[in-house]
Amino acid sequence: MKQNIVIFLGPPGSGKGSLAQLCIKHMGWVQLSTGNLCRQHIALKTEIGKQIDFCIKSGKLISDSLITSMVEEILIEYMQKDVTLLLDGFPRTMRQAQALDTILKAQKFSCIRLVIVNLSLSDDTILDRLSARLICQNTKCQAVYSLKNRALAPRDVMVCDACSAPVIQRSDDHGELVIRERLKIYYEHAKDLLDYYRQSSHLIKNIVAEGMLDEVFNQLQQAIGLAGI
Ligand code: AMP
Repeated sequence: MKQNIVIFLGPPGSGKGSLAQLCIKHMGWVQLSTGNLCRQHIALKTEIGKQIDFCIKSGKLISDSLITSMVEEILIEYMQKDVTLLLDGFPRTMRQAQALDTILKAQKFSCIRLVIVNLSLSDDTILDRLSARLICQNTKCQAVYSLKNRALAPRDVMVCDACSAPVIQRSDDHGELVIRERLKIYYEHAKDLLDYYRQSSHLIKNIVAEGMLDEVFNQLQQAIGLAGI
């Protein structure tokens, strides 16, 4: 049986985290979010956390080598289980995509299939969504909510539905300047990354992520169904 790794590509605010929550709930997938991993390191004040704190707050990317080394062990552990692994936020650069291929080759995970889900939407929608996005403060949870979208609002004001911890605004969603910096960095890498996958034999599914979450999730389910996952 083929094991699947689904890779979500898309700008900040394209709904990767919210869609991941639905994929976990409805399809039993397992999520590896590098953003969540980074925030866990920062909250736990690990050496890595101290090193990356400023980078995250200012909307910059962590170095390819550091993020790859953070991901490698976890990735290998998941690939030994019979799960569909959802990569949320990794790879983000062509170098990271190459590093992922190298890890999978070195581990002789030959029966792994990569499916790339490419989410696209307008900058205006991104800015609107990110300025209203909230996240559960509990770094083991990090459920995503929205102040503007009723379907994504927490049931109790500023309290996480899943674990009852407070929900907060992410430091890198605070202020248009940081958001624009993250967008700029995303566009700097997006073309090369997508071209890299276009030149590979991996399946790419394009999703318009402009609409409401349930509409986007429907699109995703159809695309994934067609991909035979
Ligand atoms: P996210 O939660 O995916 O929006 O990621 C939040 C922040 O974590 C990013 O703005 C980066 O600073 C860092 N980060 C997460 N994933 C990566 C990655 N693959 N490469 C470099 N930095 C990353």
